[in-house]
Amino acid sequence: MRASLKGKHVSGAERLASDEEIDKVLCELIRRPKKYDSLIITLERVREVNFIEHSLPVVSYRFPTTKEARDFALLKLIEAGVPEEVALKGIGLLSKGANPKGGNMRGAVLMDIRSGERLEPDKERGIRTVRVDWERREEVKKRILELGLTDRSLDALALATKNVHCGVMAELCWSDDPDYLTGYVASQSLGYVRIHPLKERGDALGGRIYFISGGDLKRVLECLERKAFLIKYLHPSLL
Ligand code: AMP
Repeated sequence: MRASLKGKHVSGAERLASDEEIDKVLCELIRRPKKYDSLIITLERVREVNFIEHSLPVVSYRFPTTKEARDFALLKLIEAGVPEEVALKGIGLLSKGANPKGGNMRGAVLMDIRSGERLEPDKERGIRTVRVDWERREEVKKRILELGLTDRSLDALALATKNVHCGVMAELCWSDDPDYLTGYVASQSLGYVRIHPLKERGDALGGRIYFISGGDLKRVLECLERKAFLIKYLHPSLL
């Protein structure tokens, strides 16, 4: 589902559902955006579904200022194997808007982890991680909320888990919602590291950077945009 208001993207969501669940899921999706003047739902039959055993583990950190939070995100990216100058380039790009025409992209930047070169074929659209969901969405949602995480974390954690599974070596994200300040860095070794506040309240710029090995480009793209995955469980440390 994607919805827009006055020509601007305001909400998007992705579900993998069985035939019996489709009515319920469609109802959920049309209620999801708070305000919109156009909402488009695309329904596709998926022939082959792959499984991921469990999500990344989750840890959360809070900082008094955006500066400290971004410095911490930088350290985490370096820990995940991103060279400092490439990580700084990624953070800079998200903070000024990664769309070459100004503002946000619809998808993510793909950045070569060694050279910092942008690899996504369309720099306004970016790369979209699609076809990912939880096998038992309602159960996982309940637990996520019990853990004090937000509804948004449910989808973002699924997305980041698929990304890492597809070969993204590190991911940096903060939302374009001016009131949602928590972002994250994710990688196989770090897990899903929530960091607050990765931006100032009122800032409508956000996005995602996927750091990958240039040589893996074709395989990673195919996995992110074509392969369907259901995640079976939350990470054991979250149960
Ligand atoms: P959100 O967390 O939904 O506020 O999204 C923040 C930013 O991440 C958006 O502005 C997009 O640039 C990017 N984004 C959102 N959804 C996806 C997706 N499915 N795949 C890749 N990038 C996305």
